[in-house]
Amino acid sequence: MINCRGNPIRLRLMNPQQAARLKSPHSSPIHFYCPNPPSNAMEALFDVHLHHPKTTVLAPPGTSLKFVASGFSPATNAEVMEYSKNNASFFSLGLAPQDVIRAENPDALFDDLKAKVAEAKANPALSPRFVAIGECGLDHHWAKNENEKEEERRIFSQVIEFAKSINKPLVIHSRDAEGDCIKMLHDASCKKALLHCFGGSLEQALLASSYGWLVSIPPVPSKERKKIITALPISSLVVESDAPYIGKMSSDTLKSAEMVAKYKGISIGECLSATYANACAFFGVG
Ligand SMILES: [Zn+2]
Repeated sequence: MINCRGNPIRLRLMNPQQAARLKSPHSSPIHFYCPNPPSNAMEALFDVHLHHPKTTVLAPPGTSLKFVASGFSPATNAEVMEYSKNNASFFSLGLAPQDVIRAENPDALFDDLKAKVAEAKANPALSPRFVAIGECGLDHHWAKNENEKEEERRIFSQVIEFAKSINKPLVIHSRDAEGDCIKMLHDASCKKALLHCFGGSLEQALLASSYGWLVSIPPVPSKERKKIITALPISSLVVESDAPYIGKMSSDTLKSAEMVAKYKGISIGECLSATYANACAFFGVG
């Protein structure tokens, strides 16, 4: 089994209590570059993108946590639906581009996604928690030739149209394919897209922001990310852990928020409020 980045999955057999005992620096409420620690003990944090919620959901002390658990394959779509049934949490259903190019029959994967969506919409307990299609998109890191890139585009284009037909926003994976993804989404008149773990350029981020889409910041600093956070309005930004592949646990989202607060010169509380509101508006949840 592979993950949404195309790497082999090593399942973390750790529950939140065990993880808390590890005393990760990111599960502490006060951090080295946090200028103003939250004054409100129940400051709300919205992790817009994580995987395998059974082993990755952990709220930093002093915060309440909302999150969207993302599927990216038949197995992980089933996993996030099952978790949501038992935990009343939000989820999205997707199809990773790496799975598309590795599958013998990519159309069968797309059919499976449509079947899972029908199942989620038909279940009164799940329907209000099903908030987006994704992750989906293009990955030119793993697509090694033009044929594979074209196959990714063929399926992605169908997924975009499918999301539009059911009126759901899109959560986008765009590794080494940011320009291509933005063009396809714009050409398809996509109104609501969230560029998860965005690794593209400032110019691309500004373009996405000008279309009204969201750029999501993972807990990894970079020079380009600093420029993006500085230049984009806070209304275009959200934060994520992408646990367990980028962050280890959802609590690592606080590190993303601290980075946003630092580069925008605002308090962590202001940052949490704004990114929380942006995420709620995007996913249509309260
Ligand atoms: Zn992911």
